[in-house]
Amino acid sequence: MTESPVGGRCDCGAIAGPLGTCVDYYHAILSEEQTDPHMYRWHAPVVCAYLLQHPSRAHEKYLDGQFRQLQLYLDKGLDALLRVAAHQVARNRHGARSSYDMAPLAAYEPLPPGGPPRHFRATFCRLPFRDGSFVSAGHLAYGHRIEAIAEATVESWRSIQD
Ligand SMILES: [Zn+2]
Repeated sequence: MTESPVGGRCDCGAIAGPLGTCVDYYHAILSEEQTDPHMYRWHAPVVCAYLLQHPSRAHEKYLDGQFRQLQLYLDKGLDALLRVAAHQVARNRHGARSSYDMAPLAAYEPLPPGGPPRHFRATFCRLPFRDGSFVSAGHLAYGHRIEAIAEATVESWRSIQD
């Protein structure tokens, strides 16, 4: 093995990018989306995909719901995911004890046992960051990148099943 990447390797198997490993990209995204409501629309898939690619940073009991949310996003689109998320928030406000109402997500596959996967074909530390921004090429381009990461996340988790 001759490779010795300058920034090291992330938990998800990716080689660090100019900003560092995925956690650095994740924090930079969370920071930028706070100032950009349009970018914030992708908040839920960003969080779900990040945690499923780095489950040592996640609460294990939520990963199944997050895996299902990504499937719903890929199946029905961002608006459908936002409706489910809005419903969850309303439910939590009304004092429901469970933080996830699984009904809209019940049709989707549960998180396969045996993870996490060792490789994802799209990762956070490969996201382009230009002129101090993730959306310098436009929100649509950013959305497509997040969708590709969501697809890669679901694909790799599914592939660990025997
Ligand atoms: Zn990573």
